Amino acid sequence: MTSNKDVVLDHVSIRFGAYTAVDNAFLTIKGGEFFSFLGPSGCGKTTLLRCVSGFVDPTEGRVLIGGKDMRDVSPNKRPTALIFQNLALFPLMSVAENIAFPLEVRGVGRKERRKRADELLDMIALPGTGDKKVHELSGGQRQRVAIARALAVEPDILLLDEPLSALDLKLRQHMRTELRAIQQRVGLTFIYITHDQGEALTMSDRVAVMNTGVIEQVDAPEAVYNRPKTAFVASFVGENNALSGKIASAESGYAALETPAGLLHGVAAGGRHYKPGDACILFVRPERLMLARDNDSVNRIVGTLEKEEFEGNIRIAHVRIGNAMIRISRVNDGLSAPLAPGENVTLAFSPDNATVLPVSSMAEVD
Ligand code: ATP
Repeated sequence: MTSNKDVVLDHVSIRFGAYTAVDNAFLTIKGGEFFSFLGPSGCGKTTLLRCVSGFVDPTEGRVLIGGKDMRDVSPNKRPTALIFQNLALFPLMSVAENIAFPLEVRGVGRKERRKRADELLDMIALPGTGDKKVHELSGGQRQRVAIARALAVEPDILLLDEPLSALDLKLRQHMRTELRAIQQRVGLTFIYITHDQGEALTMSDRVAVMNTGVIEQVDAPEAVYNRPKTAFVASFVGENNALSGKIASAESGYAALETPAGLLHGVAAGGRHYKPGDACILFVRPERLMLARDNDSVNRIVGTLEKEEFEGNIRIAHVRIGNAMIRISRVNDGLSAPLAPGENVTLAFSPDNATVLPVSSMAEVD
């Protein structure tokens, strides 16, 4: 059943002259979902968000909100509200006046405005701050006021364009939890765009990973991280090691690979069918590699330690395998000794802790 908070991108392409900023986006964002578009700068995220809010028209395809085609619906008639990185609060107005401003524009009376502002202040967990001036609030509190102001017009869908990027790291991390909590409290659809994978992974129900205008994968955060479907997603989301190779054999969901590190006996094939000789790339994350202490690991990679970096909670070892470098991260448990440069090390990983992808999907990596 269609909810009035559903957003459908129905084969949306957006071109500026000969340049394709969004290429055939096709997905449904469900009512009440926290949905993020994640991708590097210039991949088309903002353009797509502007298209949902009505400030950019699709060149092809259509946007449906609550099952209704938005083609001839102007931005101020859409059930959406947009929050920008610069919050655009009015510094000389009180917090309550800021929140109620969109209602004032719509001719709502003073008493009703104040009542609504107070309700919204409760909702964003800032009760009793209505008479403060904006400059008396912290960055995170201002962020919440901007959300309250967007919610004042009772939108069905809140569009957030990198709203945390102006905040410092600690506050940004704190606001992830806050934003998620607010979204769950109000039950609206949140469409969030960011180039920060940490933000997308921690807050979202689902994430769409975008690269040069193309949506490469739409999945829950764990699936995007654990089961990337393209080489771009594997490299962009989180840290990853890539080793190119060839399929030696493939059966029952697992493949053996010939790589510069020798024959690796078993890697999960992610539901794809491979033939012997197919060119492929093996992706294995630094935290999924272990220093091998025995001989029974299915996949073993022998190399030479070039250096090990100390990052406090973890150590990152850089291991040379022929021409390739592989990083392995180890938790600093306070017990294990650092590795010495020049040392030979054997790395191991289990079949389900790596991803093999066809080499053709590498074309999408920039
Ligand atoms: P960022 O995170 O840097 O904002 P983004 O992923 O949001 O990046 P967009 O702002 O959507 O990317 O831009 C996508 C591409 O479309 C860019 O190459 C940009 O230069 C181009 N573009 C966006 N708007 C226009 C426009 N009005 N006219 C021409 N080109 C545009």
